[in-house]
Amino acid sequence: MSLRICDWKYGKRWVYSVTYDEALEELHRFAVPHHEELGIPGHVEAVAGHIGKVRQLGSSSYNGYHHMGPDGLRDLIARGWGVGNHTWDHELVRPDTVGRDIGEAKRVLEDACGAPVPLYCASGDNSNMSDHVLAACRKYGYLGAMSITDALNLPGDELFWLNRTALHEQYYGPFFSDYDPYRNIRYAQERGGWIIDYCHCPLEQAVHPNKDCSEAHLRLRFETVLAEGGDAVWCANPNEVAYYHATRRHTHVEALRETGLERVYVLRFGGMPDAAVCRALTLEVDAPAAWCREAAVWVDGARRNAELVRPRLLRITVDAADGMEIAVRAPGKEHAE
Ligand SMILES: [Zn+2]
Repeated sequence: MSLRICDWKYGKRWVYSVTYDEALEELHRFAVPHHEELGIPGHVEAVAGHIGKVRQLGSSSYNGYHHMGPDGLRDLIARGWGVGNHTWDHELVRPDTVGRDIGEAKRVLEDACGAPVPLYCASGDNSNMSDHVLAACRKYGYLGAMSITDALNLPGDELFWLNRTALHEQYYGPFFSDYDPYRNIRYAQERGGWIIDYCHCPLEQAVHPNKDCSEAHLRLRFETVLAEGGDAVWCANPNEVAYYHATRRHTHVEALRETGLERVYVLRFGGMPDAAVCRALTLEVDAPAAWCREAAVWVDGARRNAELVRPRLLRITVDAADGMEIAVRAPGKEHAE
């Protein structure tokens, strides 16, 4: 088979995303300008029952800060960001509250931000990743769920336990740590992984060393990702990565014919989730050097320019559909069908 679906969009080697729990309005002052300047989209984890309110949750370090309202959320959506569901009230999600915490919260947030909310994000700790919570996430049509386990996400992983790297000044004991702008990057490069950073609302000084980093350290992280990643890193809103990941996992490639004149394949969907609303896929196809002279790929019979990645390897990103036909052809065979 000469056609393959790339692990990540655009054939990128690894992926970088960043999430901000609590969706605080103050992000517009301390984080958004860095995102805008460097072109990296972010993602906020919003507490559905707190939209537009001043935060007052137990003894939270962020009491007195402001949860974004619909305007703040919509501003971020317009900048290419995404919104996740961080439960209804940031408490423990119980079996009798999943309807509100997972189901109703999704609808309320989608109304507020005017965009799909395909990812759930556990509040508090991983107790909110328990079986009844993840079962509810599947039932209410999410694509995935984010934890606070510090690890990479790999192309073959399922999405209902996404790992996040805490971008904090230091971790809680007994395993204390220091801020590290390179955290997980080398490993992501080696394994083709997806880093999802997690912090809250970086300020001039971190509001709490175990919960956040400073604005300067956020900036340093972005600069490090871009310097280390170059053209190999896909900096993406996690929703987009989840759409790609789900589409890839639910598409298989069938070879229709491979002859000396053409190679023709068809994409078949199986169990594609409705929540995968963006179905872009990046495809790579091997072709004899002579066929690559014009670097063209035929998508459902229409000629499309492709990228010549290296000798005999063409790459193209398509909006995939069930039954879509992808072909490469020998010169002079462009009108084979
Ligand atoms: Zn939280």
